[in-house]
Amino acid sequence: MSTISAIATPNAIGGISVIRISGESAISVANSIFKGVKKPVNMEGYTCAYGKIYDDNNQLIDDVVLSVFKSPKSYTGEDVVEISCHGGKFVTKQILRLILSKGVRLAEAGEFTKRAFLNGKMDLNQAENVINIISADGKSQLKYANSLREGANFKKVKEISKQITSILGDLSAWADYPEDDVPMVNPMEVLSQTKKILSTLENISFSYDDGRIIREGINTVIVGKPNVGKSTLMNCLSGFERSIVTDIAGTTRDVIEETVKIGDLTLRLSDTAGIRDTSDIVEKMGVDIAKKRLDEADLIIAMFDGSTPLDSNDFDLIQSVKDKNTIAVVNKTDIAIDGIFDTIQQRFKYAIEVSAKNLIGLDFLTNTLNEMFLLENIDIDSGLLANERQKNCIDNSIDALKNCIHGLEMGLNLDAITIDFDEALSYLLELTGESVSETVVNEIFSRFCVGK
Ligand code: GDP
Repeated sequence: MSTISAIATPNAIGGISVIRISGESAISVANSIFKGVKKPVNMEGYTCAYGKIYDDNNQLIDDVVLSVFKSPKSYTGEDVVEISCHGGKFVTKQILRLILSKGVRLAEAGEFTKRAFLNGKMDLNQAENVINIISADGKSQLKYANSLREGANFKKVKEISKQITSILGDLSAWADYPEDDVPMVNPMEVLSQTKKILSTLENISFSYDDGRIIREGINTVIVGKPNVGKSTLMNCLSGFERSIVTDIAGTTRDVIEETVKIGDLTLRLSDTAGIRDTSDIVEKMGVDIAKKRLDEADLIIAMFDGSTPLDSNDFDLIQSVKDKNTIAVVNKTDIAIDGIFDTIQQRFKYAIEVSAKNLIGLDFLTNTLNEMFLLENIDIDSGLLANERQKNCIDNSIDALKNCIHGLEMGLNLDAITIDFDEALSYLLELTGESVSETVVNEIFSRFCVGK
């Protein structure tokens, strides 16, 4: 494989920048441009040396610290040199250009990590999680990404693959060598084993949603009839005027999205047109979108106006959200009338009183959110899935296993069932990258940034 190089740090001015070189000629190229206390060719792996980088005209480019990692004990599994120079963009590019002039190719996005995968330094699952680590935004996201990279999930899938392989082994030994003394396969035993495997995989698949809440934030919809104060609440949560706040019912027509950080939680908020019967076509479109959003939401903030008696729109709303993950927010406590909060409280597990306009009671909202989505309750170490590709592999494997179970229950020929077991296994192997097409590999690594 050719030797590759790229700037591994962000393209910005900073204290230091790192240029990474990986491949067969990494050390000899470094040797040709570096003059320091040691020669790179004489350095041990995992050591560094201070020195200077000179261009072909013997002009000094920068003082640097050069680190050498020798194959196979490096990130990529190849010989790797990392040059830490001063963090100016110009200097860094000068050094990179010099390296590229020595027959080294510029690395593509994700190519270092791809090589790590191809050289067996990490499995596909772990490599993908490097993407999550790079883009982690917050403590829980980083913990999550690291746990994925440590391979909790990978180990579980590996274990299940082994179990399916062993079932397949029994089935084919029995089918292929009937005349030998191979013990007969007991379909009932296979059935009970398969059901256990299925339930483990289903749990992994369900855990994807917990992971999604950390990765992408909680998909939250604020809903309520016009004028209850949805836009006002959204504005105060997001800290600036965003929706149009007026006294005329029905002003918020479009779905407005905003990402808000509340403690360690990220809310992806959308403020919708109120749900009510309307003859206005534009407003009706908004109402239809709002209904769809409610179905897809992780969290619904259902708002009620504490200053006017509840009407049929409010009761319709209660009806449509009561079985969903909802916080009922009774707004306008500053001018509240008696009885409204009590009525709402009786109907919802989580109900709070606020005055969005006067920023009163928002701490109740934060506390309730923390109670509902306590990140500590999410078992990050149980092996969550990192992305849609991994989830699809698990779900496809689940489907194939369901076919196995159906076949076993129907008393189908074991040969036919073997095909479904084979399929279930192949999806799991695809997840861990043990059998994965080149196209999938290329697609995965193209999502990385250059230098990683
Ligand atoms: P939306 O139609 O549900 O988005 O409602 P808005 O946020 O546009 O608010 C409607 C009206 O209620 C505006 O005049 C707000 O200033 C007012 N409002 C919102 N929250 C409060 C509150 O806590 N107390 C009072 N008194 N008025 C509020």
